[in-house]
Amino acid sequence: MRIEFDEKLDFQDVLIRPKRSTLSSRKEVDLQRTYTFKHSKQTWTGIPIMAANMDGVGTLDMAKALQERQLFTCLVKSYSEAHISNVMNDLNPEFFALSTGTSQDDYNNLVSTIAQNPSIKFICIDVANGYSEAFGQFVSKVRAAYPNQVIIAGNVVTADMTQELILRGVDIVKVGIGPGSVCTTRIQTGVGYPQLSAIIECADAAHGLGAHIISDGGCTCPGDVAKAFGAGADFVMLGGMFAGHLEGGGKVITEFHDTLQKDMKSFEPIYKEKKFVEFYGMSSSTAMIKHKGEVADYRSSEGRTVKIPFKGHVDDTIKDILGGIRSTCTYVGAKTLKDLSKCTTFIRVYRQYNDVYTRH
Ligand code: 5GP
Repeated sequence: MRIEFDEKLDFQDVLIRPKRSTLSSRKEVDLQRTYTFKHSKQTWTGIPIMAANMDGVGTLDMAKALQERQLFTCLVKSYSEAHISNVMNDLNPEFFALSTGTSQDDYNNLVSTIAQNPSIKFICIDVANGYSEAFGQFVSKVRAAYPNQVIIAGNVVTADMTQELILRGVDIVKVGIGPGSVCTTRIQTGVGYPQLSAIIECADAAHGLGAHIISDGGCTCPGDVAKAFGAGADFVMLGGMFAGHLEGGGKVITEFHDTLQKDMKSFEPIYKEKKFVEFYGMSSSTAMIKHKGEVADYRSSEGRTVKIPFKGHVDDTIKDILGGIRSTCTYVGAKTLKDLSKCTTFIRVYRQYNDVYTRH
């Protein structure tokens, strides 16, 4: 047994220090990035924010909405070849990835989907634990079969495994174990890594090899997304922040909550309508029952099922996130998103913000 005493940080442990800036307006900030990927040699231009491949988030409708603003979607794994082929005309291959697990069925679906739709540019190989030898071998097999596709794979949280995946042919390593909004891995297993430190360490390893990383999980507000970019993430993936929208396709649940009238002149309750959407982790029992029919005997759920407020169209959320990041850039003098990490100095804090009026 060994203990590491280096301090490891999460988003809430830091703030970004403001710096003198010549920028006069958020309008001047350019959030587009252009990347050339290490193995596939493909080039990509867009705003590097991604919807996670989760039910209610990585849907075809989400991909159609996000591509309008040059944002990216990792589609859920459960889409079959027929699903994808039916909508391929409406999808822009620049802005979505086909996701796959590592089973033989997953591989067969990947092969047939790409055979029918050879313009698919991005493949996302997604497992909860990217440390297994079998996962590494699967990654090598996909790279050998698809030398020209951009391969995203994960999840890992340390520099050694980031490097190993890149050497096996991954272009973009997905980073994050346990930070997710509906993730219970840290509770069920005790395993995890504070996300900000994971980004800093994995980005350093990947950039040294000419590859890229995605920060996956743990962002709760636009400020967290800005911190992830400031720490060196090339892409930031969002689950919870993109959940609860019409484009996620979840069932909208309407509830009536009673509150007492404000003036207290009457004790007649007022019934207020509130709308919610169910959101769950992809390793939750809800997801396992939906996709596999049962929770297998040997495993436990590592995800939560929650009810979140219905947020309407995702476009308003996108504007809110992009507005926040543009503002971060003006505070630190970054004219482009590319400059944000160079302009970032984090300060260690023990209090994030004043929540006096938001405490329940
Ligand atoms: P969020 O943006 O909601 O904080 O995090 C999204 C990420 O959480 C996903 O992209 C995925 O990596 C992770 N995730 C999704 N479902 C589960 C789950 O059931 N268990 C765990 N451990 N992680 C999950």
